[in-house]
Order: sequence, then structure tokens, then C-alpha cells
Amino acid sequence: MIKKAKFLTSNTDYKKCPSPHKPEFAFIGRSNVGKSSLINMLTNTKGLAKISGTPGKTQLINHFEIDERWYMVDLPGYGFAKVSKSHKADWEKMIKDYLTLRENLEATFVLIDSRLSPQKKDLEFILWCAENAIPIVLIFTKADKLAKAKIQANVRKFLKTSESIFEEAPMYFITSSTSALGRDEVLEFIEEVNHG
Ligand code: GDP
Repeated sequence: MIKKAKFLTSNTDYKKCPSPHKPEFAFIGRSNVGKSSLINMLTNTKGLAKISGTPGKTQLINHFEIDERWYMVDLPGYGFAKVSKSHKADWEKMIKDYLTLRENLEATFVLIDSRLSPQKKDLEFILWCAENAIPIVLIFTKADKLAKAKIQANVRKFLKTSESIFEEAPMYFITSSTSALGRDEVLEFIEEVNHG
């Protein structure tokens, strides 16, 4: 369990992010996938990730310090319906620089809505991660919204569709922010990496 989660900074440039002396775990996904809810659920801190949801702050790299030992990072979501080309280019540069150059980044959790069939935007993003050797872990969100068998079927379908992208199948978790399903598993994974 996380005891203390503290908002640190919001940046557009990875070089300005907090000094990289603690292990870091980033969260990313299509807008509305449930990222803010997941961050609040994992940290047990209501409203922590609201900062990233307020207008003007949505396109920033948000750092939280967890138990004074590691950083949790809320990355801006992709796949907004209406964004200009230049906006998309800015997002891409910011995110791609961060993911490829942030030296203490241990893993990036890519959130996938467990209710949906495989989405092009998600597949494109994880393909880019694979091509750039960015270690990712999948998180299938909102699992309380469908029957368990249906979730399992969607997860299998996603893994099957993305099979050719990975040399090795990625690790994945199934979560619900309303029931806290998957919280212990995700945090255990992070602790294992931190102590590994
Ligand atoms: P973000 O844009 O990725 O940060 O998504 P939010 O966390 O703001 O969630 C988007 C919407 O989905 C909100 O209405 C949330 O209440 C809802 N939501 C997020 N996670 C869950 C979940 O695990 N279960 C259910 N039932 N709803 C969720």
C-alpha cells in the first residue's frame, strides 16, 4: 500500500522533470481510458490526478512522489477527437522525448479500455514503443463494467491482435478503479522492480 503520494511538478520538457535519482513509472493511454481514476485508486488519494485533468494542465508530464522512494508519472492522453496537427506534433515530441530519454524510467503502463475491441490508436502507440524498445506493461481498465468472461475475451483478443508487435508477450493487469481490482498486483509489480 502507498502511504504518501505528493504532487511535485508539471513539465513539457523531460529535461526539466525532477532529478532522476528515483525509479520512475509512467502511465499513459487514450483520453478517458480511466488514467486519473487509476492513479487515484493506486495511491489511495482522492483528487491527486485531478491536476492533470484541469484545463491547461492536460498536456503536461505530471510527477508524483510516492512514499519518498519512487516517482509516478501521469502522461497526457492520446487520441483526442479534435486536435490540430501542430498540437499532435507537440504532443508526440514531448512524449517521445520523455519515453526515449528519461533515464530513470523503469516501465510505462499503457492503459487499455477493457470494454473495447482493439483500437487503432492503442495498437499504433504500442507498436511505436516496441520499435523504440520502451518497456511497457498493459493495464486493462474499467473491468467492473463488463462480465468477467467478456473481459477475458477482450484481453485475449487484444493480445492476439498485438502478437506480431512483441517478441515476448507483454505483462498485463486487469483493474477497476471502483472496486480497486488489480491494485495490489500493480503495486507489487512496482515494488519488485524497485527492489530487483
Ligand atoms: P482519463 O481521461 O484517462 O484520466 O479518465 P478518467 O479517470 O477521468 O475516467 C474517465 C471516465 O471513466 C470517468 O467518468 C470515470 O468515472 C470513469 N471510470 C474510470 N475508471 C473507471 C472504472 O474502473 N470503473 C468505472 N465503472 N468507471 C471508471
